[in-house]
Amino acid sequence: MKKLVDKHNRVVDYIRIAVTDKCNLRCFYCMPNEGIDFVKQNQLMSYEEILRVCSILSKQGVSKVRITGGEPFLRKDIMYFIKSLSEMKGINTIAITTNGTHTLKHLDGLIKYGVRKINLSIDSIDKQRFFELTRRDLFDTVWNCFVELTKHDLDLKLNAVVIKDRNIEDLIPMVGLTKAHNVSVRLIEEMPFNGKGANYTSLEWDYKKILQHLEAHYGKVIKLNDDKNSTSLNYRVPGHTGSFGIIPAYSRTFCGTCNRIRMTPLGTIKTCLYDEGIFNLKDLIRAGANDGQLLEAIQSAIGQKFRDGFVAESKRKKLPNISESMTTIGG
Ligand code: SAM
Ligand code: SF4
Repeated sequence: MKKLVDKHNRVVDYIRIAVTDKCNLRCFYCMPNEGIDFVKQNQLMSYEEILRVCSILSKQGVSKVRITGGEPFLRKDIMYFIKSLSEMKGINTIAITTNGTHTLKHLDGLIKYGVRKINLSIDSIDKQRFFELTRRDLFDTVWNCFVELTKHDLDLKLNAVVIKDRNIEDLIPMVGLTKAHNVSVRLIEEMPFNGKGANYTSLEWDYKKILQHLEAHYGKVIKLNDDKNSTSLNYRVPGHTGSFGIIPAYSRTFCGTCNRIRMTPLGTIKTCLYDEGIFNLKDLIRAGANDGQLLEAIQSAIGQKFRDGFVAESKRKKLPNISESMTTIGG
Protein backbone atom coordinates (compact mmCIF):
# COMPACT_ATOMS: atom_id res chain seq x y z
CA MET A 1 0.00 0.00 0.00
CA LYS A 2 1.37 3.38 -1.00
CA LYS A 3 0.47 5.99 1.61
CA LEU A 4 -0.70 9.48 0.73
CA VAL A 5 2.20 11.77 1.56
CA ASP A 6 2.51 15.50 0.89
CA LYS A 7 5.65 17.37 -0.08
CA HIS A 8 6.30 18.24 3.55
CA ASN A 9 6.36 14.52 4.40
CA ARG A 10 3.03 14.53 6.22
CA VAL A 11 1.02 11.36 5.84
CA VAL A 12 -2.69 11.90 5.14
CA ASP A 13 -4.80 9.27 6.89
CA TYR A 14 -7.91 11.27 7.75
CA ILE A 15 -10.72 12.79 5.70
CA ARG A 16 -13.47 15.12 6.90
CA ILE A 17 -16.57 14.90 4.77
CA ALA A 18 -19.32 17.50 4.80
CA VAL A 19 -22.36 15.53 3.68
CA THR A 20 -24.68 18.55 3.44
CA ASP A 21 -24.53 22.33 3.63
CA LYS A 22 -28.02 22.55 5.14
CA CYS A 23 -28.53 23.40 8.77
CA ASN A 24 -31.43 24.12 11.08
CA LEU A 25 -29.39 26.52 13.22
CA ARG A 26 -27.94 29.80 12.02
CA CYS A 27 -24.84 30.23 14.19
CA PHE A 28 -23.91 33.78 13.32
CA TYR A 29 -20.16 33.05 13.09
CA CYS A 30 -20.88 30.25 10.57
CA MET A 31 -23.65 31.36 8.23
CA PRO A 32 -25.94 34.31 7.52
CA ASN A 33 -29.52 34.23 8.76
CA GLU A 34 -31.03 34.32 5.30
CA GLY A 35 -30.22 34.56 1.61
CA ILE A 36 -28.29 31.30 1.58
CA ASP A 37 -28.04 29.51 -1.72
CA PHE A 38 -28.13 25.87 -0.62
CA VAL A 39 -26.72 23.21 -2.90
CA LYS A 40 -29.33 21.45 -5.05
CA GLN A 41 -29.81 17.75 -4.42
CA ASN A 42 -28.33 16.69 -7.77
CA GLN A 43 -25.21 18.79 -7.14
CA LEU A 44 -24.50 17.05 -3.84
CA MET A 45 -22.07 14.18 -3.85
CA SER A 46 -24.31 11.11 -3.67
CA TYR A 47 -23.64 8.54 -0.94
CA GLU A 48 -22.44 6.11 -3.60
CA GLU A 49 -19.94 8.68 -4.87
CA ILE A 50 -18.71 9.48 -1.36
CA LEU A 51 -18.38 5.78 -0.53
CA ARG A 52 -16.41 5.22 -3.70
CA VAL A 53 -13.98 7.98 -2.73
CA CYS A 54 -13.68 6.54 0.79
CA SER A 55 -13.01 3.09 -0.62
CA ILE A 56 -10.21 4.44 -2.84
CA LEU A 57 -8.70 6.37 0.07
CA SER A 58 -9.00 3.45 2.51
CA LYS A 59 -6.71 1.43 0.24
CA GLN A 60 -4.09 4.18 0.58
CA GLY A 61 -4.06 4.24 4.36
CA VAL A 62 -6.89 6.62 5.16
CA SER A 63 -8.45 5.02 8.23
CA LYS A 64 -10.44 7.83 9.83
CA VAL A 65 -13.51 9.64 8.52
CA ARG A 66 -15.29 12.49 10.26
CA ILE A 67 -18.80 13.23 9.07
CA THR A 68 -19.77 16.85 9.32
CA GLY A 69 -21.73 19.51 7.49
CA GLY A 70 -23.98 21.60 7.70
CA GLU A 71 -25.86 19.43 10.10
CA PRO A 72 -25.15 15.83 9.07
CA PHE A 73 -28.35 14.46 10.60
CA LEU A 74 -30.42 16.64 8.28
CA ARG A 75 -29.30 14.61 5.29
CA LYS A 76 -31.80 11.91 4.35
CA ASP A 77 -30.70 8.33 5.00
CA ILE A 78 -27.55 9.39 6.86
CA MET A 79 -27.62 6.13 8.82
CA TYR A 80 -27.49 4.15 5.58
CA PHE A 81 -24.30 6.03 4.76
CA ILE A 82 -22.81 5.49 8.23
CA LYS A 83 -23.66 1.78 8.13
CA SER A 84 -22.00 1.40 4.72
CA LEU A 85 -18.92 3.24 5.94
CA SER A 86 -18.75 1.07 9.05
CA GLU A 87 -18.59 -2.01 6.82
CA MET A 88 -15.71 -0.65 4.73
CA LYS A 89 -12.39 -2.43 5.15
CA GLY A 90 -9.64 -0.10 6.33
CA ILE A 91 -11.93 2.53 7.89
CA ASN A 92 -11.27 2.06 11.60
CA THR A 93 -12.66 5.27 13.03
CA ILE A 94 -15.87 7.07 12.18
CA ALA A 95 -16.43 10.33 13.99
CA ILE A 96 -19.24 12.85 13.70
CA THR A 97 -19.68 16.53 14.49
CA THR A 98 -23.26 17.56 15.20
CA ASN A 99 -25.31 20.38 16.62
CA GLY A 100 -27.30 17.94 18.76
CA THR A 101 -30.77 18.87 17.54
CA HIS A 102 -31.49 15.61 15.69
CA THR A 103 -28.80 13.37 17.11
CA LEU A 104 -30.54 11.37 19.81
CA LYS A 105 -32.98 9.59 17.53
CA HIS A 106 -29.95 8.06 15.79
CA LEU A 107 -27.99 7.21 18.92
CA ASP A 108 -28.74 3.47 18.89
CA GLY A 109 -27.60 3.29 15.26
CA LEU A 110 -24.44 5.27 15.98
CA ILE A 111 -23.53 2.91 18.80
CA LYS A 112 -24.40 -0.13 16.66
CA TYR A 113 -22.15 1.06 13.82
CA GLY A 114 -19.26 1.82 16.14
CA VAL A 115 -19.38 5.61 16.06
CA ARG A 116 -17.90 6.48 19.46
CA LYS A 117 -16.38 9.84 18.68
CA ILE A 118 -19.06 12.47 18.86
CA ASN A 119 -18.35 16.19 18.88
CA LEU A 120 -21.37 18.10 20.06
CA SER A 121 -21.38 21.82 19.34
CA ILE A 122 -22.75 23.98 22.13
CA ASP A 123 -21.45 27.51 22.29
CA SER A 124 -23.24 28.54 25.43
CA ILE A 125 -24.85 26.86 28.38
CA ASP A 126 -27.08 29.87 28.92
CA LYS A 127 -30.39 29.59 27.08
CA GLN A 128 -30.58 33.24 26.04
CA ARG A 129 -26.96 33.45 24.87
CA PHE A 130 -27.39 30.16 23.00
CA PHE A 131 -30.37 31.69 21.20
CA GLU A 132 -28.44 34.85 20.33
CA LEU A 133 -25.51 32.83 18.97
CA THR A 134 -27.50 30.26 17.00
CA ARG A 135 -30.58 32.40 16.20
CA ARG A 136 -32.74 29.42 17.12
CA ASP A 137 -34.47 28.56 20.38
CA LEU A 138 -33.18 25.00 20.70
CA PHE A 139 -30.99 25.13 23.79
CA ASP A 140 -33.10 22.65 25.76
CA THR A 141 -32.92 20.08 22.94
CA VAL A 142 -29.15 20.39 22.67
CA TRP A 143 -28.64 20.31 26.44
CA ASN A 144 -30.83 17.22 26.69
CA CYS A 145 -28.72 15.65 23.95
CA PHE A 146 -25.57 16.36 25.98
CA VAL A 147 -27.07 14.83 29.11
CA GLU A 148 -28.16 11.68 27.24
CA LEU A 149 -24.81 11.29 25.49
CA THR A 150 -22.98 11.38 28.84
CA LYS A 151 -24.89 8.23 29.84
CA HIS A 152 -23.14 6.17 27.16
CA ASP A 153 -19.62 4.93 26.67
CA LEU A 154 -18.62 7.51 24.07
CA ASP A 155 -15.62 9.70 23.35
CA LEU A 156 -17.64 12.87 23.79
CA LYS A 157 -16.32 16.33 23.06
CA LEU A 158 -18.16 19.61 23.38
CA ASN A 159 -17.23 22.26 20.82
CA ALA A 160 -17.60 25.94 21.59
CA VAL A 161 -16.36 28.77 19.40
CA VAL A 162 -15.01 31.56 21.60
CA ILE A 163 -16.45 34.90 20.57
CA LYS A 164 -15.68 38.28 22.01
CA ASP A 165 -18.65 39.91 23.74
CA ARG A 166 -20.88 36.89 23.03
CA ASN A 167 -19.96 33.88 25.15
CA ILE A 168 -16.89 34.72 27.25
CA GLU A 169 -19.08 34.30 30.36
CA ASP A 170 -19.51 30.65 29.33
CA LEU A 171 -15.85 29.64 29.28
CA ILE A 172 -15.47 29.04 33.00
CA PRO A 173 -18.80 27.20 33.52
CA MET A 174 -18.21 25.12 30.40
CA VAL A 175 -14.83 23.97 31.65
CA GLY A 176 -16.66 23.47 34.96
CA LEU A 177 -18.65 20.69 33.25
CA THR A 178 -15.46 18.64 33.17
CA LYS A 179 -15.52 18.39 36.96
CA ALA A 180 -18.28 15.78 37.03
CA HIS A 181 -18.33 14.64 33.41
CA ASN A 182 -15.73 12.65 31.55
CA VAL A 183 -15.91 14.89 28.49
CA SER A 184 -13.49 17.14 26.72
CA VAL A 185 -14.64 20.74 26.31
CA ARG A 186 -12.97 22.27 23.29
CA LEU A 187 -12.73 26.01 22.99
CA ILE A 188 -12.18 27.01 19.38
CA GLU A 189 -10.69 30.26 18.14
CA GLU A 190 -13.10 31.98 15.79
CA MET A 191 -12.18 31.70 12.12
CA PRO A 192 -13.32 34.07 9.36
CA PHE A 193 -15.67 31.52 7.75
CA ASN A 194 -19.05 33.13 8.29
CA GLY A 195 -20.33 33.29 4.73
CA LYS A 196 -20.18 37.07 4.68
CA GLY A 197 -16.66 37.83 3.60
CA ALA A 198 -15.05 38.16 6.99
CA ASN A 199 -11.72 39.87 7.04
CA TYR A 200 -9.68 40.37 10.16
CA THR A 201 -5.96 40.35 10.71
CA SER A 202 -5.84 39.59 14.41
CA LEU A 203 -7.99 37.92 16.99
CA GLU A 204 -8.38 39.23 20.52
CA TRP A 205 -9.59 35.95 22.08
CA ASP A 206 -6.77 33.79 20.85
CA TYR A 207 -5.59 30.55 22.48
CA LYS A 208 -3.21 32.36 24.85
CA LYS A 209 -5.89 34.72 26.14
CA ILE A 210 -8.36 31.85 26.56
CA LEU A 211 -5.86 29.93 28.69
CA GLN A 212 -4.98 33.01 30.77
CA HIS A 213 -8.67 33.64 31.40
CA LEU A 214 -9.21 30.06 32.60
CA GLU A 215 -6.10 30.00 34.77
CA ALA A 216 -7.11 33.29 36.39
CA HIS A 217 -10.14 31.40 37.68
CA TYR A 218 -8.99 27.79 38.11
CA GLY A 219 -5.32 28.39 38.94
CA LYS A 220 -2.54 26.54 37.16
CA VAL A 221 -3.99 23.78 35.00
CA ILE A 222 -2.25 20.52 34.07
CA LYS A 223 -0.91 20.26 30.52
CA LEU A 224 -1.82 16.86 29.04
CA ASN A 225 0.07 15.06 26.29
CA ASP A 226 -1.52 15.89 22.95
CA ASP A 227 -2.05 13.18 20.32
CA LYS A 228 0.41 13.29 17.43
CA ASN A 229 -1.98 14.99 15.02
CA SER A 230 -4.02 16.87 17.58
CA THR A 231 -5.38 20.28 16.68
CA SER A 232 -6.07 21.05 20.33
CA LEU A 233 -3.78 21.95 23.20
CA ASN A 234 -5.17 19.82 26.02
CA TYR A 235 -5.39 20.46 29.74
CA ARG A 236 -7.05 19.26 32.90
CA VAL A 237 -8.15 21.30 35.87
CA PRO A 238 -6.68 19.53 38.93
CA GLY A 239 -9.31 17.23 40.42
CA HIS A 240 -11.59 17.30 37.37
CA THR A 241 -12.69 14.07 35.66
CA GLY A 242 -12.72 15.40 32.12
CA SER A 243 -10.36 17.68 30.25
CA PHE A 244 -10.43 20.74 28.06
CA GLY A 245 -8.73 21.66 24.83
CA ILE A 246 -8.04 24.95 23.16
CA ILE A 247 -7.98 24.90 19.35
CA PRO A 248 -5.84 27.64 17.76
CA ALA A 249 -7.92 27.45 14.59
CA TYR A 250 -7.09 31.04 13.65
CA SER A 251 -3.53 31.12 15.05
CA ARG A 252 -2.82 27.86 13.20
CA THR A 253 -0.06 26.51 15.43
CA PHE A 254 -0.84 22.88 14.57
CA CYS A 255 -0.36 22.84 10.77
CA GLY A 256 3.04 21.12 10.98
CA THR A 257 1.41 17.81 11.89
CA CYS A 258 -1.70 18.11 9.72
CA ASN A 259 -2.85 14.68 8.51
CA ARG A 260 -6.18 15.52 6.91
CA ILE A 261 -8.01 16.53 3.78
CA ARG A 262 -11.60 17.67 3.37
CA MET A 263 -14.39 17.05 0.93
CA THR A 264 -17.23 19.55 0.62
CA PRO A 265 -20.88 18.67 -0.13
CA LEU A 266 -20.19 19.62 -3.76
CA GLY A 267 -17.24 17.24 -3.93
CA THR A 268 -14.47 19.82 -3.81
CA ILE A 269 -11.27 18.50 -2.28
CA LYS A 270 -9.58 20.88 0.13
CA THR A 271 -6.17 20.08 1.53
CA CYS A 272 -6.47 22.92 4.06
CA LEU A 273 -9.41 24.68 5.67
CA TYR A 274 -7.94 27.96 4.45
CA ASP A 275 -7.41 27.00 0.80
CA GLU A 276 -9.91 27.81 -1.91
CA GLY A 277 -10.49 24.21 -2.93
CA ILE A 278 -8.03 22.28 -5.05
CA PHE A 279 -10.28 20.46 -7.51
CA ASN A 280 -13.73 18.96 -7.84
CA LEU A 281 -13.92 15.18 -7.55
CA LYS A 282 -17.60 14.95 -8.40
CA ASP A 283 -16.99 16.51 -11.83
CA LEU A 284 -14.28 13.93 -12.47
CA ILE A 285 -16.50 11.10 -11.28
CA ARG A 286 -19.43 12.26 -13.39
CA ALA A 287 -17.15 12.65 -16.42
CA GLY A 288 -16.48 8.90 -16.12
CA ALA A 289 -13.04 8.79 -14.45
CA ASN A 290 -11.95 5.36 -13.25
CA ASP A 291 -10.60 4.68 -9.75
CA GLY A 292 -7.00 5.02 -10.91
CA GLN A 293 -7.66 8.45 -12.37
CA LEU A 294 -9.48 9.59 -9.23
CA LEU A 295 -6.60 8.42 -7.07
CA GLU A 296 -4.09 10.18 -9.29
CA ALA A 297 -6.01 13.45 -8.95
CA ILE A 298 -6.21 13.07 -5.15
CA GLN A 299 -2.51 12.22 -4.92
CA SER A 300 -1.62 15.23 -7.00
CA ALA A 301 -3.72 17.52 -4.74
CA ILE A 302 -2.13 16.06 -1.60
CA GLY A 303 1.31 16.40 -3.16
CA GLN A 304 0.75 20.14 -3.37
CA LYS A 305 -0.70 20.56 0.13
CA PHE A 306 0.35 23.95 1.50
CA ARG A 307 2.83 24.04 4.37
CA ASP A 308 0.32 25.75 6.64
CA GLY A 309 -2.93 27.66 6.75
CA PHE A 310 -1.19 31.01 6.30
CA VAL A 311 0.36 29.95 2.99
CA ALA A 312 -2.97 28.41 1.92
CA GLU A 313 -4.76 31.67 2.71
CA SER A 314 -2.15 33.76 0.89
CA LYS A 315 -2.64 31.69 -2.27
CA ARG A 316 -6.36 32.39 -2.47
CA LYS A 317 -7.33 34.29 -5.57
CA LYS A 318 -10.21 36.05 -3.84
CA LEU A 319 -8.02 37.77 -1.29
CA PRO A 320 -8.42 39.49 1.07
CA ASN A 321 -11.81 38.13 2.07
CA ILE A 322 -12.70 34.58 2.92
CA SER A 323 -16.31 34.40 1.88
CA GLU A 324 -17.30 30.79 2.46
CA SER A 325 -19.54 29.69 5.26
CA MET A 326 -18.17 26.94 7.46
CA THR A 327 -21.32 25.02 6.64
CA THR A 328 -20.18 24.62 3.03
CA ILE A 329 -16.71 23.48 4.05
CA GLY A 330 -17.39 21.24 6.99
CA GLY A 331 -15.77 22.29 10.24
N1 SAM B 1 -23.53 21.46 12.33
C1 SAM B 1 -22.55 20.71 12.99
C2 SAM B 1 -22.08 21.39 14.25
O1 SAM B 1 -22.36 22.58 14.42
O2 SAM B 1 -21.42 20.74 15.04
C3 SAM B 1 -21.35 20.34 12.13
C4 SAM B 1 -20.83 21.41 11.20
S1 SAM B 1 -20.11 22.82 11.97
C5 SAM B 1 -19.59 23.75 10.57
C6 SAM B 1 -18.62 22.10 12.63
C7 SAM B 1 -17.90 22.92 13.65
O3 SAM B 1 -17.38 24.10 13.04
C8 SAM B 1 -18.76 23.36 14.81
O4 SAM B 1 -18.18 22.97 16.02
C9 SAM B 1 -18.77 24.87 14.69
O5 SAM B 1 -18.83 25.49 15.93
C10 SAM B 1 -17.45 25.13 13.98
N2 SAM B 1 -17.42 26.42 13.31
C11 SAM B 1 -18.34 26.92 12.45
N3 SAM B 1 -17.99 28.16 12.05
C12 SAM B 1 -16.83 28.46 12.67
C13 SAM B 1 -15.99 29.61 12.66
N4 SAM B 1 -16.26 30.68 11.94
N5 SAM B 1 -14.87 29.56 13.43
C14 SAM B 1 -14.58 28.46 14.18
N6 SAM B 1 -15.34 27.35 14.22
C15 SAM B 1 -16.47 27.35 13.48
FE1 SF4 C 1 -25.23 24.86 11.62
FE2 SF4 C 1 -23.07 23.82 12.71
FE3 SF4 C 1 -22.92 26.09 11.23
FE4 SF4 C 1 -24.13 26.16 13.57
S1 SF4 C 1 -21.95 25.69 13.22
S2 SF4 C 1 -24.92 27.05 11.65
S3 SF4 C 1 -25.02 24.18 13.74
S4 SF4 C 1 -23.42 24.08 10.50
